[in-house]
Amino acid sequence: MRELICINCPRGCRLKVDDNLNVTGNFCPRGAIYAKNELTHPVRTLTSTVKVQSTLERRLPVKSSEPLPKEKVFEAVRELDEVNVEAPVHIGDIVVRNIAQTGINIIATKNIEK
Ligand code: SF4
Repeated sequence: MRELICINCPRGCRLKVDDNLNVTGNFCPRGAIYAKNELTHPVRTLTSTVKVQSTLERRLPVKSSEPLPKEKVFEAVRELDEVNVEAPVHIGDIVVRNIAQTGINIIATKNIEK
């Protein structure tokens, strides 16, 4: 039996998962999906910032367009350390394509003018 805390919402349900991936303790179906994924193929949405060339801001907030495999998150963060974006940038603009060879893009989450 494994125990997990669901991180999908602030309720933070305490989940128990047996060897057959039967989940209990979840208030809603998202908890069961989270627990099964966490034990078989854990993923995380990456949120971070990158350097931006602008007179207004130094850092641009970004996030992954989809959750990344958990084992790729540190590699992705290291790649983001090397990124330097030129303003203007708009919400949804792709900042990095195929981060850490995952097929997932990193996108801007803030508008920044020059
Ligand atoms: S199981 Fe549902 S209600 Fe409970 S923390 Fe997860 S998302 Fe929230």
